[in-house]
Amino acid sequence: MDQKNFSVPLSLRDIQVTDDFWKNEMELVRKEVIPYQWEALNDRVAGAAPSFCMRNFRIAGKMNREKAERGASYEAPKYTFRGFEALPEDPEHLEDKFYGFVFQDSDFSKWIEAVGYSLTQHPDSALEEIADGAIDIVCAAQQEDGYLDTYYIINGRDKTFTNLRDHHELYCFGHLTEGAMAYYEATGKDKLLKAAERFADYIYNYFGAEEGKCKGYPGHEIAEMALVRLYEATGKQKYLDLSSFFIEQRGTKPYYFDTEGHPKESIRDENGLRYAYNQAHLPVREQDEAVGHAVRAVYLYCGMADVARQKADESLFDACERLWDNIVDKKMYITGGIGATHMGEAFSFAYDLPNDTTYAETCASIGLVFFARRMLEMRPDAKYANVMERALYNGVLSGMALDGKSFFYVNPLEVNPTACHKDERKFHVKPVRQKWFGCACCPPNLARLLSSIGAYAYTESEDTLFVHLYIGSTLTKRVGATLADVEIRSRFPWEGDVEIRVRAEGSGFKLALRIPDWCDTYRLEDAQQYTLSEQNGYLYITKEWGEEDTIRISYPMEARLMEAAGAVRETVGKAALVRGPIVYCLEEADNGADLHLLSVNPAGAFSVIAEELCGLQVNKIQAEGTRRAKEKQDEALYHPLRPAVREKAALTYIPYFAWANRGENEMQVWTRVE
Ligand SMILES: [Zn+2]
Repeated sequence: MDQKNFSVPLSLRDIQVTDDFWKNEMELVRKEVIPYQWEALNDRVAGAAPSFCMRNFRIAGKMNREKAERGASYEAPKYTFRGFEALPEDPEHLEDKFYGFVFQDSDFSKWIEAVGYSLTQHPDSALEEIADGAIDIVCAAQQEDGYLDTYYIINGRDKTFTNLRDHHELYCFGHLTEGAMAYYEATGKDKLLKAAERFADYIYNYFGAEEGKCKGYPGHEIAEMALVRLYEATGKQKYLDLSSFFIEQRGTKPYYFDTEGHPKESIRDENGLRYAYNQAHLPVREQDEAVGHAVRAVYLYCGMADVARQKADESLFDACERLWDNIVDKKMYITGGIGATHMGEAFSFAYDLPNDTTYAETCASIGLVFFARRMLEMRPDAKYANVMERALYNGVLSGMALDGKSFFYVNPLEVNPTACHKDERKFHVKPVRQKWFGCACCPPNLARLLSSIGAYAYTESEDTLFVHLYIGSTLTKRVGATLADVEIRSRFPWEGDVEIRVRAEGSGFKLALRIPDWCDTYRLEDAQQYTLSEQNGYLYITKEWGEEDTIRISYPMEARLMEAAGAVRETVGKAALVRGPIVYCLEEADNGADLHLLSVNPAGAFSVIAEELCGLQVNKIQAEGTRRAKEKQDEALYHPLRPAVREKAALTYIPYFAWANRGENEMQVWTRVE
């Protein structure tokens, strides 16, 4: 591996997203999600499960102050450990103790990360003031030795790092660092970054290969990638070493988590997930199957990819690629959803992709996007970017309502609302988005990804700008001593025409455009004026650049029925409709109830209709099909086979990400083929 060929994301400060589609998503995050989340972090949303997040920080800070004021005579109150402390019956009289999930601190960190990215795109002094105030509250909770996790600060430091498997101190640290980095990059303010660094130093002194140090590693990964980011920002080798240690240590024998002596073994210990749940069943370089909790898995793979890139470590990269291929070839939904079972929120076995009981957590698709970008940094291969695009426009965006006010945790591909209410196996599948969750990982995760979308669309090497996603934006790229200004315009995901204006000098600047996998051909206007080459799904373009050049390229977007491999039992005889990057679905609101009786005619016409759906301009698709005729009321449950009576039916498909915005109703992605 040659690091000279690697590419990195552009600084968000060098990109302005101008794209209607993404600008709308970013504005929803800025105007709806970020303010709403701030209210939620402060338990001020009526009817939503309280977060207790900022309250826990305040109490930890208060205990810090009392300790400082009373010195040796101060004895912190002792509390019991449960992992989740529910709201008492009389919420007016809360004790000064920790409430909520053990990982509640991370709600703040994800929020501040989204705030940071949002500020790079849209300066907002009022928001910055709120954020500064929140940072003061968080930093006041930090202990003298750098430790910063309110669960143990409040409950007693003697239990620190005693349950790495299930408690989330290192997870909270990882998110704190990511949030601190984003806020620092946006504002130049380093108070939170300094706090994260002090916590990192504390962790570095505690864990490591050296004698006397703890040999554990995070139960929920993310610290691995956060530490690499911290290393890149500070240049301090120890952070990269610590990340490397966590990665190499995972899965070695004796299993670290066995040495912790957990008071209560969970159900997953009985069903073969004991080690695999945390991807700790094998050393990571020996892993070739994506297993266990899907979000943890992809976060681990991100950390592995970051370390592989920093160290040009080919065998670690190979492990990442094996895991990537395993996910994409055998364990991913057509929407880019991953994690097929709610048991352990985990990957299931190969080709087990049930549509109505799936988990496909929003965070897992987000993690897949993170993983894809990291693989692209080492090897610009469209196979990564194609999946990144698929996950982003479908499995990720479906996580948020079109008004930005409610969210899916689980993203099913088929829903019958009655089953969600009455069938215990589907209780985790919600037919409409929820306002907030007690375990609120997905909404803030969406906010941080959508606010930093520019960092996924482009990466740069010394002389090349890679365009992975066609997101309208203006950006500046340094090529040696000169600057290249680039403006990208498109109407993605609805139309495939892209216009790229380049202002550059000489021939040193190269553009590398991803050729999407959903089209067989593309058309480049005036192709003869460029020097062109194609490699790994990218079209490399250069020329003797003049004052201003405009490149026009079109990727035809055809409505296409897709089928799954025969090994996917759930979808045999069915097809999903895809156009460009968008996966479509049928919804009851357009097609009536009993969607399972509908069939689509593959030889029929597919007409694209530009229309508004709940305030968003989208392309719907009208298709030809039939509906199995309604039987008589008294139709027997079983009866001798008779020729099916089918009536003509016009099918109206809408983008999958836009489903469930018109109340509770049926939905399906896979429809029978006539
Ligand atoms: Zn989540």
